[in-house]
Amino acid sequence: MTAIAPSPLASTDLPDAPAVVGTGLRVPLVTGGSAEYANLDHAASAPCLEAVREAVEQALPRYASVHRGAGLHSQISTDAYERARASVARFVGAGEEDTVVFVRGTTDALNLLARCLPRGTTVVLFAGEHHASLLPWEHEGSRAGEVVRLPLPGGPEEAVEAARAALRAARPGPRLLCVTAASNVTGEVWPIEELALVAREEGARVVVDAAQLVPHRPFDLAACGADYVAFSGHKLYAPFGCGVLAGRADWLRAADPYLAGGGATANVTDAGVVWSDLPDRHEAGSPNVIGAVALAAACEALTEAGWEHLRLREELLLGRLRDGLAGISAVTELALWGTGWPRVAITSFVVEGVAGDLLAAALSAEYGIGVRDGLFCAHPLTRALLPEGHGRAVRASIGLGTTPEHVDRLVHAVAELVAEGP
Ligand code: PLP
Repeated sequence: MTAIAPSPLASTDLPDAPAVVGTGLRVPLVTGGSAEYANLDHAASAPCLEAVREAVEQALPRYASVHRGAGLHSQISTDAYERARASVARFVGAGEEDTVVFVRGTTDALNLLARCLPRGTTVVLFAGEHHASLLPWEHEGSRAGEVVRLPLPGGPEEAVEAARAALRAARPGPRLLCVTAASNVTGEVWPIEELALVAREEGARVVVDAAQLVPHRPFDLAACGADYVAFSGHKLYAPFGCGVLAGRADWLRAADPYLAGGGATANVTDAGVVWSDLPDRHEAGSPNVIGAVALAAACEALTEAGWEHLRLREELLLGRLRDGLAGISAVTELALWGTGWPRVAITSFVVEGVAGDLLAAALSAEYGIGVRDGLFCAHPLTRALLPEGHGRAVRASIGLGTTPEHVDRLVHAVAELVAEGP
């Protein structure tokens, strides 16, 4: 059970946040009755913002194919699509040498980059990456030469030194350091500025997997010294199916299109194909205009809400959740660099005597709480962090739809389930 009852915290005690759709949804409980659904799985996919819904509703009546229609709706859609691109460019601090390519999500973005590397590029990364940033470099179609997978570093300084040593030891030629900005398992924030500095000093480029960072913190390519950033709309309070690869244009421009087809072509004759320039080059087919509009609306709404404001709200909720769970002796939180290291609103944990999948199922069925359990598409990292005897962890992740009541309900539920035993 919780050691100390926390002092009350009402939603009205928190800084205001942009509204999300679907709050107040009630779910039936196996124990009888129903509960307001407590979505504590924002790290998997976040609910849409009301501002996103409004942007989509506005765009839908004028919805038409972009770039290749003379009609009014095509012109309006083209304008909306390109304004979305400009908005995303501002969101990530893209500069003149950069491009913004709309893709399906972070996984797609990193696979695209893997195919655009100068042939034989050495890619350096840590074993703690999400599979989306761990695997594309060794996958079919990747132009990477050697992939250097570094062991999990014992701390941020060790990470920086290990990256430096690996980049320095790499064979001559282009090198890319791939790093996740915030872990989807522990929420821990990686020292991307320091890593980007090391990469620059060693003449290498950096790609940041910011899927878990951008819903919580501002990101700026130029300010942090990174060359590329990848993220997904569905983790950023927009719908599924649209994501971003933004960054330096030269490698992307020099590579063959990611997909061959209409939209990526400037001219096709019997003699061959002249491919379009960026960003169309990597956006063959009819693009996801509504997805881009929605994603840009989310970027704008979060920026407008103010990052410090959002951060304060999140820290109050995350602190309350972590303190509550820490008060239950059977709970162990997963952490790579210790529980004191800064993190975004994610915590993964195991409970002595209760298997992760059973705990997650009981939280859903008996308490109306949605969490995720398993290895979180980061098998090497999660397995390395799991205490002996545990095969899966449970992850709770907080977002703009979270209330203090959701957090308190989770803590109370875990305490009750522990008291009941297996
Ligand atoms: N990178 C990180 C850190 C993630 O958490 C995720 C999704 O969980 C991804 C990449 C992959 O994102 P998507 O499934 O949208 O491609």
